[in-house]
Amino acid sequence: MSTIESVLNETRIFPPSDEFSSQANVSSFQAYQALCAEAEQDYQHFWAKRAKERILWHKPFTQILDDRNAPFYKWFADGELNVSYNCLDRHLATQADKVAIIFESDDGEVIRSTYRDLHQRVCQLANALKARNIKKGDRVVIYMPMRIEAVVAMQACARIGAIHSVVFGGFSAKSLHERIHDAGAVAIITADEQVRGGKHHPLKATVDEAMRMSDTTSVQSIVVYQRTGGEIPFNPPRDVWWHEITQNAGSECEPEWVDAEHPLFTLYTSGSTGKPKGVQHSSAGYLLGAIVSMQWIFDYKPTDIFWCTADVGWITGHSYVTYGPLAMGATQVIFEGIPTYPHAGRFWEIIQKHQVTTFYTAPTAIRSLIKLGGDLPAQYDLSSLRLLGSVGEPINPEAWMWFYEKVGRSRCPIVDTWWQTETGCHMIAPTPGAVALKPGSCTFPLPGIFAAIVDEAGHEVENGKGGFLVIKKPFPSQIRTLWGDPERFKKAYFPEDTGHGKYYLAGDSAYRDKDGYFWIMGRIDDVLNVSGHRLGTMEIESALVAHPLVAEAAVVGKPHEIKGEAVIAFVVLKGKYPHGEEVARITDTLRDWVAKEIGPIAKPDEIRFGENLPKTRSGKIMRRLLRTLAKGEEITQDISTLENPAILEQLKYPSK
Ligand code: ATP
Ligand code: MG
Repeated sequence: MSTIESVLNETRIFPPSDEFSSQANVSSFQAYQALCAEAEQDYQHFWAKRAKERILWHKPFTQILDDRNAPFYKWFADGELNVSYNCLDRHLATQADKVAIIFESDDGEVIRSTYRDLHQRVCQLANALKARNIKKGDRVVIYMPMRIEAVVAMQACARIGAIHSVVFGGFSAKSLHERIHDAGAVAIITADEQVRGGKHHPLKATVDEAMRMSDTTSVQSIVVYQRTGGEIPFNPPRDVWWHEITQNAGSECEPEWVDAEHPLFTLYTSGSTGKPKGVQHSSAGYLLGAIVSMQWIFDYKPTDIFWCTADVGWITGHSYVTYGPLAMGATQVIFEGIPTYPHAGRFWEIIQKHQVTTFYTAPTAIRSLIKLGGDLPAQYDLSSLRLLGSVGEPINPEAWMWFYEKVGRSRCPIVDTWWQTETGCHMIAPTPGAVALKPGSCTFPLPGIFAAIVDEAGHEVENGKGGFLVIKKPFPSQIRTLWGDPERFKKAYFPEDTGHGKYYLAGDSAYRDKDGYFWIMGRIDDVLNVSGHRLGTMEIESALVAHPLVAEAAVVGKPHEIKGEAVIAFVVLKGKYPHGEEVARITDTLRDWVAKEIGPIAKPDEIRFGENLPKTRSGKIMRRLLRTLAKGEEITQDISTLENPAILEQLKYPSK
């Protein structure tokens, strides 16, 4: 295989300010390197030390890594703990009255919940679930609006040792059914309806539809939180109201002590590259990952007001809403609505209103906010911000620059965090007081994370050459297995036929530049092969997004007789969807632009314009569908996680 080429030429660099570094948890590049060196020397002891210091153990562990049944690794296996105890009870003695959650509803109502209050709510629900005979090891599907109660539901499961499986509230009955069925869930926690952007969307009715689809007899209880009071089907004794079962439930609930390896939850991947996978996480190792990344990457301070905009339906919402911030004792913002309602400045308004210090969001949100009103942030007082973050997809350098200048006012570092549902926490991301940033690069691995880029045979490639992104050593927060499918787990992440051996194969392609910085180039599946050059999708897309007319772009390959593959670009313009001769004119402009920016090899053979791109419900571009459209074929793949199926029609044919 020829290696993947980098065609990117990004030279801007942003060292941390003295002001930021001097207060940072990791305050210099030397300090970062010292942590890495400590891990290098003995990575197991490195993690064990932190697991002892940062987790409250009911029974301390004596074993660190158990790799006898690799790749089914175990960490701290003879220790016992409870994750909810680590997130709530530990703060009661020291800061019970600190606000844990500042909740803002879709219509602007604000509710504050302290650690004392949150602890009580979690205990009450936990007791109510126990009274419904829900026990340790049982699976509970959570299908909830983004409200305090979603966090309470997850924490209550953790408290009694039940394994939660959160399904994003935007998923259809069919996707929900598959997840209920796959988990063999005994209970579902849901709401009557959810409210987003002023609109009501059914949840309970969708649950009922999912329940009718096929065998769901495992489900004994459906707990319904009343959000809107809307009319819903209700079927007692299976269905019960949250407020009724918690009303007289005790406000103390002894946590269920579980083994370190007890599954805390399962969660499906986004489905960007294929059928979603049911990722299973542990209790202790997962929690440790959430804690150290809060410390190192989010540079967490007790005075922070932390806001991660992800829904709890995604891994980001698990690690950086439900678990990480609470384990640290943070005050965080939870927002029920959408960034554009009732106006496109809603995010900036929330930052101003609640004095947010740390703002973590996704490139898809950033690109859509640029498209809607690139100058809007200037109308708000964003001076409380000190740190910005991005997750979910590669962030195009121009979107990075906008985020840095317009939102962070060139004062706040951006942590571009590369990680996955499977890794549980950040893997490659800057420690912001230590590392100089380059727009579009996730920079360096976390201490203790042995990331590398290898060829098909598993040999590391030299800097500048692209290849497979792998993690060479086990780490505590990693996926334990795919729920009910250990064979698929091994094949997907530790494939033997490629020579990667014991390395964890991430499924992304990447390269390191001359300074050793990591750059994610796209999915392995999406790599293009143009006239013998293997190109990542990210760089051509970033060149397109750097053009002032372009809001978003996705690039795929299409078989070509001479070149092997032709480059097809799908483009969303900032202004209106083009018509007639505009199409030809803008196409020529953009083709020339790409040729100038990165070279003729990357010049798109065809450009199709759309009002949007096919995205997963978590906002990621689904290039595999575009590849099919580019070839002129019918889509037969799994589209259960596709947000906007109607867009496929628009992108099916060349723009006219
Ligand atoms: P599936 O595995 O089902 O195809 P998915 O990979 O999109 O879905 P997630 O676990 O939500 O599911 O996403 C992880 C992936 O997102 C990473 O493998 C990577 O491709 C991309 N990603 C996440 N953060 C970043 C980032 N900061 N930079 C570049 N890519 C990122
Ligand atoms: Mg993936």
